[in-house]
Order: sequence, then C-alpha cells, then structure tokens
Amino acid sequence: MKFLFFGIKYIVNYHIFKKKTPLICGLTVTNECNLHCRHCRVAERGKKSLTFEEMTTALQSFYQQGGRTVYFQGGEPFVWQEGKKTLEDIVVYSRKMGFLTTIIYTNGTIPINTAADTVFVSLDGLGDTHDYLRGKTFDRIVKNISESKHPALYINFTINNYNKNEIQNFCEFINNIDQIRGVFFYFHTPYYGFDDLYIEPEERKEILQRLIKYKKNYKILNSKAGLKSALRNDWKRPLDICQVYEKGEIYTCCRTPRDPNLCKNCGYLSYSEIDQTLKLKPSAILNALKYF
Ligand code: SF4
Repeated sequence: MKFLFFGIKYIVNYHIFKKKTPLICGLTVTNECNLHCRHCRVAERGKKSLTFEEMTTALQSFYQQGGRTVYFQGGEPFVWQEGKKTLEDIVVYSRKMGFLTTIIYTNGTIPINTAADTVFVSLDGLGDTHDYLRGKTFDRIVKNISESKHPALYINFTINNYNKNEIQNFCEFINNIDQIRGVFFYFHTPYYGFDDLYIEPEERKEILQRLIKYKKNYKILNSKAGLKSALRNDWKRPLDICQVYEKGEIYTCCRTPRDPNLCKNCGYLSYSEIDQTLKLKPSAILNALKYF
C-alpha cells in the first residue's frame, strides 16, 4: 500500500511537475563473485567491495534525493562481508531507514535467507544449458530455491543463443515449483561485443512474440506492455532516473560507457517495464505492484 501511494505521488511529480527524482538505486556491494559465467566480466572491473560505511552514505544520499527502492547486486552480493557484518545488515539498515522496497539479485548458490522484500535468482536455462553458461550450479541453485522460505522469489533468465530454444520448457519447469513466483526475461546485451551469445534483432522479435503468447500459460513476470515495447525497441534509454552506485562512482542506467549502438541493442528489459509504467500502461503498472 505504501508503495502504491509512493508510486502515485512519483507519477504526478514526474508528469505534472516534471521532477526527475531518482526512482531506483542499485548498490554494487561487491564485484567479487563465486562463479565465472560466460557472459560476465564484472569481477574484472577491479573496483572491489563497498565498505558498510560507503553503503550507508550512498543510501542516505539516495534517500534524501527521494529514492525509495534499492537493489543490491554484485558480483555476488551474498559473498560480501565486513568483520561480522553481512549483506543482511545493510538490508535491515535500508528497511529501517525507510526504503519501501529492497531487492537482491543473486546467483542463488548461497542459501537464500533474507529480510529483503524481493529476491531475483539467475537461472539461464535448464540443467545442462545453465551449467554450460554459469558453471555446474543448477542443482545447487534449485535446491536453495526449494529450501528457501522467502515469499517473493523470482527467476531472472537472460535469453541468448544457447538457451533461446528451451524457453518454453523452462517455463514448464518453473510452473511446477511453487516457491518461484515468476520468471523475468532479459536478452543478452553485447557489453563486450557482438559475441556468440548475441541474438540478432529480427530473431529477438520472434522470441518476444512467443513470450507474449506464453504469458497466458506460464508465470512470466514481464508485462505485455513491457514486451511490446521491447518488440518495438522503443523504451527510453538511457533511463536517467535509475542510478547504480559502484565504489566511488555513480552511474545512470547501467555501469557501461554510453555507447548508442550498445544501448540500441540493450536487453535490460526491466527498464522497458519502468518506462511503460511511467507511461501509465496498465499491465506494466499491475506488474510493478506485484514485485515492488
Ligand atoms: S546498455 Fe544502455 S540502455 Fe541498456 S542499461 Fe546500459 S546504459 Fe541503459
């Protein structure tokens, strides 16, 4: 309910008073990770972990600017530690500060016990495909999901050339796991060049059309409006109301250099959801209310 009021106020300020209050802040708690996935070079960025003090300072600054949603990412955020402090200390701190939504993005290899409002676990295909892309972890992740009592647990699935043909089977698999509330689909973004994971725009469209159809039968979290915007490739970018904090640096939209060709091929579909929510598309608004 609190988020609903916040959302209405935000939209009024955004549209009528043209205020560009930051909406979502990402804290990169660490660039360290316990996996070496094919698509990811975050661990090579060099900037390692935030201190607890750096996190609280960033959170206070973001809160003062009006932001009320924060997500924690890595690397793998659950590996972060400072003395006896763990990720949970910063989650609890954020909630006490007054953030309305706290979100964790994890690879799911570490047991999922947290007070964060929402948890997104990355699974990029069924067993063999996921293991090919992310290392032999599928069984462990599914076990951690099944044993977690978290009430708002979702899957992030990034579509690429290796897993594009098993989307429907994956959706079937997810439908049978009660603990998972839904799956959110992204596309591989060619951050490091147009590699073997990249899907050409025409094929991406064909996959998006399938996802729109699959929504009827499966727990797909992307809204119809978000998927249609992705189909038209017309969501606003870079999205300057989204900030990402990484040690000593604040980025808008994401942690990559502003390259128009990269942004044109962006697969970060949660931003198409935000864009469509701000454009007051009902299906996007309803979806946002589900996980915020
Ligand atoms: S690639 Fe561009 S549009 Fe996509 S998240 Fe990064 S800055 Fe935003």
